[in-house]
Parts: sequence; structure tokens; C-alpha cells
Amino acid sequence: MWFDFFQCIKLKTELIFFENQNHLNHITYFILLLIGMVNYIIVTGGVVSGLGKGITTASIGKILQLHGYKVTAIKIDPYINCDAGTLRPTEHGEVWVTEDGGEIDQDLGHYERFLDINIPKCQNITTGQVYQAVIEKERKGEYLGKTVQPIPHVTDEIKRRVRKPSQEEKFDFIIVEIGGTVGDYENVLFLEAVRQMKLEGDKVLYVHVTYVPVLDALGEAKTKPTQHSVKLLREIGIQPDFVITRSDDPLDDVRREKIAMFCNIHEDDVISDSNVKNIYDVTSLFEEQLLSKKILHKLNLKKDRNDLKTWSNFLEKIKKFDKKVEIGVVGKYFDIGSFNLPDSYVSVIEAVKHAAWNNNLSPNIRWINSKVFEKKPEKLSTLDELDGVIVPGGFGLSGIQGKIDAIQYVREHGIPYLGLCLGMQLAVVEYAQNACNLKDANSREVDKKTSHPVIDFIPEQVSILQESRYGATMRLGAYPALLKKGTLVQKLYGKNKVFERHRHRYEVNPEYVKILEENGLVFSGRSPDGVLMEFMELSSHPYFVATQAHPEFKSRPMKPAPLFQGLIQAALKR
Ligand code: GLN
Repeated sequence: MWFDFFQCIKLKTELIFFENQNHLNHITYFILLLIGMVNYIIVTGGVVSGLGKGITTASIGKILQLHGYKVTAIKIDPYINCDAGTLRPTEHGEVWVTEDGGEIDQDLGHYERFLDINIPKCQNITTGQVYQAVIEKERKGEYLGKTVQPIPHVTDEIKRRVRKPSQEEKFDFIIVEIGGTVGDYENVLFLEAVRQMKLEGDKVLYVHVTYVPVLDALGEAKTKPTQHSVKLLREIGIQPDFVITRSDDPLDDVRREKIAMFCNIHEDDVISDSNVKNIYDVTSLFEEQLLSKKILHKLNLKKDRNDLKTWSNFLEKIKKFDKKVEIGVVGKYFDIGSFNLPDSYVSVIEAVKHAAWNNNLSPNIRWINSKVFEKKPEKLSTLDELDGVIVPGGFGLSGIQGKIDAIQYVREHGIPYLGLCLGMQLAVVEYAQNACNLKDANSREVDKKTSHPVIDFIPEQVSILQESRYGATMRLGAYPALLKKGTLVQKLYGKNKVFERHRHRYEVNPEYVKILEENGLVFSGRSPDGVLMEFMELSSHPYFVATQAHPEFKSRPMKPAPLFQGLIQAALKR
């Protein structure tokens, strides 16, 4: 009943507004504020996947946030998986971990970084979650007597989830990105749900992101794929308010007019999103085309405040850095067929960038496939060319020895090193093997029969794995760690207690802590009960720091993560 009441007020207010636009502007704005009306911007994609819709969504959010609005974002992933936790990184890129332990598509990371907010896991919606909820309700008899159907029951569940954030907190904007492309079977019900929202009185704008290719043989930008994609969207009942065109070069007036005509929108609402060197520059591109002003105008909202200056000054400043810092990422999730996909490590890349910019440097990231060192050990000396090395997180057996060899090399040659999760576990393994004389030392994940499991299961994980309960069962999300006074890690954080995000099943085996410490390894941070080793460092080395956590998830363009900051500072000294 309350919902209907609010819907009624909403529709009434809109009516007043449209009939008396000029005179009642202020009154209407006030009423809208009073009833806490949230605005939805739905971002859909067309033509091809991988257009960078996540960056587009984050950038739209950012420009609105810079005008003083409170913004959050939702990612809809139409796959049947309940979350991204069981996906291989080479499928969809890195798995992003939220503060509350969600394992989610990397786009959520872009939203958090651009908007500098924490987004809870419920703001990722997948087909798996939606159907699971509907089926559970059906079994509980909540639809008793009814035929449970995709429309309305599945679409109702989707709308409930899309509206949920605004019922818990007051937001001015919720930007909703629907994964996949229009025409995919799997996102039809999501599109249908967001279509219904407007009909039901929600304030909704639709943004469609497409691709405008240039055919080599013709040397001409072609708009037909965009026209067809919008046609598909309109068949579903959604008329886009904006079409954002991804292309190598800026869209010219001729194509703009054509897209406007065939897509039934005004020319000004065709926004060109051409390639930029730095992803954060998409916000500038949008602002040059007055996108935020156009969005606010369509929703009859006023500009509240303008924080664009600080942001645009920052973007201008970092363009001028010409001194380079060369950081190597020794990973393994690069190769799919003959393509290299650094997407698997996107947060690590972003964290390196943020820390480099903060030190007036331009980052140069080198991709090093650890498997190369296994076949050609002589290649290890190429690590000398780098200013710093990172071994990021990872799972499974492949490429492990190459990583251990790389860690030994940088430890023995004084090259600054940062280990992240697996990168800490393997640093401990390497140190045990080569500095503690435990030749057979290994991680239980790599060698089940090792006589020195210096890295072993977190005890609760044993039964989880025996019962094959793989989904959402790792040690996930933010956990506190207490830092040891006087250590480098504690100095970098500048405090004694920190919260970083985690995603792992293995840990430093407490039985080996003593022998490792006796041989010079310093555990600079532990879980509050003292059992779990969260941070380590070597005082005899210019910078050899590692953590069981993933500090890359908390790095923001203007607030770099402390351990990355430390790596870059050490790299600078080198
Ligand atoms: N595979 C290791 C574990 O599960 C490391 C995980 C990671 O690097 N995120 O503990």
C-alpha cells in the first residue's frame, strides 16, 4: 500500500512539473527532495561486448557526483553464476572483492575507484541470484495459487533488487549497467524489468553504448551497427535518451546526424566516446559534450555544486608527468589463444598508476608471464631492467615455479618487491626453501605431500573443500589486522589497525612462524587473535613487502594504497 501511495505522489508530482515547468521549478524540486526520489540511469550496450561500458557507467556517475549528487551504481551480470567467484580470470577479467566479501565482475571496481565509495555485494545482480530467489519463494508458497512466470515474477524480483539501495539510503542517482549486448538471450528479462520501471513511475533515463567501426577498406566510420542495435532496443520498448558511441576517433557531424535520425533522438544526445589514453579522461570527454548538464536538464534537476575543478586539475596534472617508473607484474593469467589479457589484473594496474601519479611519475607496466622463467631461467636477469616487481594473486599450479624463481631473484638482487596474496604465500615458500634450509617447503595448494607445508589450509577450509562447496566460501572481504610497531608496513599505513580485503583459502602455517622469524623474516601484521600472518617484510632489503590481503582493491586515483605507495617510493630510489 505504501509503495502505491508513493507511486501516486511521484506520478502526480511529475504531472504538475510537466504542466507548469517554468513556474513550479523550485516547488517541484523541493517536493521531489522531500519524497526522496531517486533517479535511475540505465546503461545498456550494443554491437559488440568489451566496449568499456563499465568505464562509461563509472564516468557518468562521476560527472554527476562532481555536481554534488549522491551516486551509487549497480552491475547486472546476466550469466547464471550466482557471482563471479567461480569464474576463471581469463573469462571475464579479474574477480573484484567488495568490503562485505562479494566476488564480483571487475566493473564494480571501476565504479568504486571513480566514485571513491564502497559498494555492497547486493549491488551486483545475476540471473543465478534472481532465479534462486524466485524459486525459493515458490517453494515457500509465497506465490501460492499462481503460475510463476518470467514476467511478472522474475522481472519483479529484478526491479526489487534494482530499487533496494534507494530504500536503504538516500541516493540521488543509481546508475545501473546491464551486462552483455542488446539481442543476447540472457539479458532480455533485465531489459524488460527496467522498461517496466519507467512505466511504474520511476524516474529513468536510458543510455545506450554502441560501437562505430571504421572499415579499413573504406576508411569510413559506419553507423549501421548502431542503428540496428537501437532498433533492437526499441523493439523491446526502450527508447534511449542518449546514444554513446565508442570509436577510435571522435564522431563527426555527418555520422552524428545519421545516428540521431535513425535512432529517434536529438543530435545533441549523441555523445562521442573516442579512445583516450587514460580511462579517467572519459569524464572530461563527457563534460566537454555537456553530458551531465543534459542529463540534469532531462530530469529537471539543477546543478548543486561543482567540484569539477579539483578532478580536472588532477587529470591535467598527471598528463604532464614524463619521468617513468617501470613496474613488472609477474602473472600467469595473460594468455587466451594468441591474445594477452591484462584485464585479469586490472586493480593491480590501477593501484600502480595511482601510486605512480601520486609520486609525479608516469607508470610503465611490463607484463611478465611467469611460465617463461620455467622454460628459460636465463630470462630472470631481465628483471634487473625493472624498478619494482609485483607478484599478484592467483590460484592453482601453473606458473608457480616461475614466480618463486622471480621472487628469489628480486630478493637476492635488491629489486623492490610487493607480493599480493599468492605473492606473499610464495615469498614465504621461497624464503623457507632458500633462507631457512627447508628445501622441500611448499604451499599445500601446490604440493599436497610436502614435508614442510609452510602455507597450509585455513582450518575451516578443509571440510569446505572435502564437500566441494566452492561458491563464496573463501575467506572473503575486509578483515582487521594489527600492525607491529616500528615496521615498514606500519609506517606506510601510519596506523596500528588496518582493514584490507581478502580472498583466499590458504594461510601461513602458524607452526612455521617461529623458524621463519628466527631466520630474519618479519611478520609485520597479524589478525587480532595473532594466528593469521597478514603482512610480512624483510628489513635487510630495500623494499620486500607482502600481504595476505589485496590492498589493490582500496586504491583510488587520489588516494593510493600505502603498500603500492611504498613500492613506488622504493622504485624511485633505485
Ligand atoms: N590460491 C591462494 C589461496 O587460495 C591465493 C589466493 C589469492 O591470491 N587471492 O589462498
